Amino acid sequence: MSAASAATWAAAQPASAAFPPPDPHTTLLVVAPHPDDEILCCAGAIQQVLAAGGRVSIVWLTSGDGSYLGALVIEKSPLRDARHMRAYGMRRMAEARAAADTLGVARSGQLFLGYPDGGLLSLLRDPAAPPLRSKFTDATSVPYPEALYPGHPYTGASLRADFDAVLAQVHPTLVLAPTPLDSHPDHRAAGLLARAAAAHRELTLRYWIVHGGEGWPSPRGLSPGIPLTVAPRARGLDPQPLQLSPAEEDRKLAALNAYATQLKVLTPFLTSFIRTTELFSVRAEP
Ligand SMILES: [Zn+2]
Repeated sequence: MSAASAATWAAAQPASAAFPPPDPHTTLLVVAPHPDDEILCCAGAIQQVLAAGGRVSIVWLTSGDGSYLGALVIEKSPLRDARHMRAYGMRRMAEARAAADTLGVARSGQLFLGYPDGGLLSLLRDPAAPPLRSKFTDATSVPYPEALYPGHPYTGASLRADFDAVLAQVHPTLVLAPTPLDSHPDHRAAGLLARAAAAHRELTLRYWIVHGGEGWPSPRGLSPGIPLTVAPRARGLDPQPLQLSPAEEDRKLAALNAYATQLKVLTPFLTSFIRTTELFSVRAEP
């Protein structure tokens, strides 16, 4: 698609009621519980903000280091030891960088916090508890040198403080976070964290869902050219579509392809987010 025809195409699309039209002053922060969520929810939104001259950052709360199955497939080792799981986390972070590079997100906007996969909700529920020990990596503090704050303890207070520090650093005008209605506990926690942190800041917060209910997204697998349907769990939230151009849809798939570890175990689920629309809600709850 040429620039001119892309502009004509964009002008013909209805604006999403839930997604403020981006401009050069837009500073977007995408809150991703795990590497790959930012592509599934928001690769189109990211491209549109960058195309409008805005800035984009992504914060990954965990490094996705909590999947024995994923690690088994990739590392080709049945060992469930901490060293393998940390190596798996590092690999997913490298994939996240490659995916973000594909969309044109600057390296300075690629932010990893390195909290424990599967542990976010426990951390938020009891912020004063002693540091949590990841059953996967055996870590009780951020073990990744390339994270923003290596060595910060796995406590709820530290997670909140680090997330606040990211908001202070990025100064987003627009935050895209998971809805607390998502069925994955890390996603629920990410939504609660974003909502609490945004409450006392001047920014627009919009919600998306990835684990939206049994069988969703339907149909499963790669079916480009059709819109994403509303997830059963998000029906009460009245999510509004953001329209992607064919070129944006193609690039979303190219970015997703950076996630070799995830595509080996989850391809039909992941590729079913390659659609002509992304859905965002104004409300976190019905
Ligand atoms: Zn996730």
